[in-house]
Amino acid sequence: MPSYVEVAINLPQIFNTYHYHLPTDLVECVMPGSLVIVPFGKQRAQGVILRFVETPEVAETRPIEDIMDEKPALTSSQMALAQWLADETLSPLGTCINLMLPSGLSQYTDTLIQLNPDLDINPENLSQLEKQIVNLLKKRGDLRGRQIDALIRHVEWRGAARKLSREGIVRTQAILPPPRVKPKSVRKVTLAIPPETIDNLEEPLSRVHRVHDRRMHVLKTLAGEPEPVEPSWIYAQAGAKYNDLKTLEEIGLIKQLDIQVWRDPLVNAAYIPVTPPELTRDQKRAWEQIKLGLSHAEQGQTPRPYLLHGVTGSGKTELYLKAVKESLEMGKSAIVLVPEISLTPQTVKRFLSRFPGQVGVIHSQLSEGERYDTWRRVRNGELSVIIGPRSALFMPLENLGLIVVDECHHESYDQQDSQPYYHAASTAVAAARLSGAAVILGSATPRVTQFYQTISGQWDYIELPHRILAHREAIAHHAQRLGIDLPITSGEGQTADLGLPEVSIVDMREELQSGNRSIFSREMQKALQHILDTHQQAILFLNRRGTATYVFCRSCGYVVKCPRDDKPLTYHRRENGLLCHTCGYRRKVPRTCPECGSRQIRQMGTGTEKVEQLARERFPNARTLRWDAETTRKKGAHEHILTQFTNQQADILIGTQMLAKGLDLPLVTLVGVILAEVGLNLPDYRSTERTFQVLTQVAGRAGRSPLGGRVILQTYEPDNFAIQTAAHHNFADFYEQEIAYRRELRYPPFTRLVRLEYRHHDERKAEETALQLAGILRQWIRESDQHIEMSGPVPCFFSRLYGRYRWQIILRGVDPTKMLRNRQLPDWIVEVDPPSLL
Ligand code: ADP
Ligand code: ZN
Repeated sequence: MPSYVEVAINLPQIFNTYHYHLPTDLVECVMPGSLVIVPFGKQRAQGVILRFVETPEVAETRPIEDIMDEKPALTSSQMALAQWLADETLSPLGTCINLMLPSGLSQYTDTLIQLNPDLDINPENLSQLEKQIVNLLKKRGDLRGRQIDALIRHVEWRGAARKLSREGIVRTQAILPPPRVKPKSVRKVTLAIPPETIDNLEEPLSRVHRVHDRRMHVLKTLAGEPEPVEPSWIYAQAGAKYNDLKTLEEIGLIKQLDIQVWRDPLVNAAYIPVTPPELTRDQKRAWEQIKLGLSHAEQGQTPRPYLLHGVTGSGKTELYLKAVKESLEMGKSAIVLVPEISLTPQTVKRFLSRFPGQVGVIHSQLSEGERYDTWRRVRNGELSVIIGPRSALFMPLENLGLIVVDECHHESYDQQDSQPYYHAASTAVAAARLSGAAVILGSATPRVTQFYQTISGQWDYIELPHRILAHREAIAHHAQRLGIDLPITSGEGQTADLGLPEVSIVDMREELQSGNRSIFSREMQKALQHILDTHQQAILFLNRRGTATYVFCRSCGYVVKCPRDDKPLTYHRRENGLLCHTCGYRRKVPRTCPECGSRQIRQMGTGTEKVEQLARERFPNARTLRWDAETTRKKGAHEHILTQFTNQQADILIGTQMLAKGLDLPLVTLVGVILAEVGLNLPDYRSTERTFQVLTQVAGRAGRSPLGGRVILQTYEPDNFAIQTAAHHNFADFYEQEIAYRRELRYPPFTRLVRLEYRHHDERKAEETALQLAGILRQWIRESDQHIEMSGPVPCFFSRLYGRYRWQIILRGVDPTKMLRNRQLPDWIVEVDPPSLL
């Protein structure tokens, strides 16, 4: 009786699953989760067995060809999660399963392209792109599709290749490359006979006396080793040679073994075991709640997710550590998500030192082999805590008890560059539900949609309202080093209480009126001078994303907006015009301000480089450092710049939003924001919340020192509520106003959005295709039983990417995904709950 299985094919754009039968020799080997090779159309492809089926849906099934690994690649909760993710994001199941396979093991099939040697090619009949392909093949020989992708970047060359193939100029053939990664093993040797028999050997080990002695020495050395050892060690110990080992093996006295070793990226990391501190009263209260959730999870009832709300330094990480410890004691495993490893080395170190030997770290700089080995060690149950960015969520942990999402509002949790377009925070909530685990989402500035979950009762809310900072002793030590008196309010236990920094808002319109045209207000100049005089440090922050994109009046702060959508219009240098990225409205840049008549109306054109230059002009003795996309491009540059700064080799650090993330810089007592509203004027419904988050976090950089600290926000819109609430560290007020705005304008969480994007190198073609789809969508909307609004098509705010023009359409309704289900939109990027509309 043949067994049938349902298989998800690991190929892009395959939404369906398929039935196959198992040849008899494989029946015993496979199970749900097994990674297999199947015939698919004319090619061979990788797939994952989802389940066994009684009767196949087609009469003639094809056989599973082979199994790639005797252990299943996916756990059962992972398969459920992949299915959930595919439904939720409208993505092919294969792309979701692919997230869970270590890169290098998972292999999409590829095409091998070969030049037809028997054909004389007349280049005149070929297009530019066709010629390029032919020349590549002439120069490099046969090429795989992915190699050509790398050689002709960001160009859709496959159409041209198909044409060449039809004309017989090239041949194409589907291939399935072997996995790039394999377990690493080393050769070791050991004795093949009982050690006590060595002295009773009948034959000499060589006719040459000296050689016999040497080989005897090898045997005796091995007899003293309980475990197999590496040959090089034997060579050194016994003065033996490769030939000796070979001969001894041939006569059966020793054997050589291939022993697997783990490529462990942490093998050189130093562990500093530390004992957990006693919790503060707030932490204890929070802990009681979390502990309850964990014990519910242990009894098989999935607890509600926890939103752990507390400013940086309020003790959240300490609670994560405690929750992980509790999970481990219950015999369960844990996943800890952090935004970016390179920006959170301190958090990672704390986990490593608290749970030595049990933690695996995933990050983008791991080699494929290290990644694969970490994956296998997790699968074997050798690592029970995984820490890493969003991809760590997809490790095959059995018996998951806890997921932590640190800084759960962070943008890096949204996958925006490839399918499936998912959100790690909400996926973590689903993963926890599917495996019966607890989940803690921590942040100082949760997203409005996340906080809304606690208001609507879906998640539980835990607050840590006070900032504790390190041990009182550590702070005292620090203060001593700086040679200052200690103005510390002591907290409970070992902690010291550090208040939040004082924040002032400077109205830049007044600066202009008083004749100060510099980008530094008088207050900022004074504060910087004080920093230089007292040998402290300052950070100057510029939200670069969007500085030069909108037009505003420096006299009154007026921002030119769309009369229809009330969104800031975007400046386009080429036509010196303004465009609305919501509805397509266009106008010229006004010469005078429509509000006050001033001629000071233009876009702000300042980058970090310019800020640095101006700072140096104003303060010739200041030592400045720049931290932005450009200066941190090189590997290790982050650490390098930070080290320089913490070693006091610079006074002023100038940077973009990367600076907003969490490192302790104790000598920083001034944080200056050059223009606080920049991010507010991006045409996206989330720009207000992003600006609030960034400003709040930037403000948190200051005042983490016994010297205290202050924050200066410069702005032309001093009354804006996001700036006001950020300045007062007031999340509650911010949320109240923002949620009211969302409710009124029907934005998430009150509706759901779907963003459809089309890219093409030909601008006209991009526009036409977008218009065409809009027509089809209008028809679908009429046929659907829901109220769905459509806006666009319009060019995206970032209108070109890799030389291709981007157009988009936004759908909004209670659940617009329903209408799109089971519809094919090839070539379109479909993003459900898009994190950004830019
Ligand atoms: P968060 O994750 O909210 O930024 P942390 O857990 O990192 O906060 O705590 C901030 C600082 O306070 C850290 O240096 C941490 O070691 C210290 N800390 C946290 N809780 C305690 C405690 N109960 N006793 C002493 N120090 C603590
Ligand atoms: Zn408009």
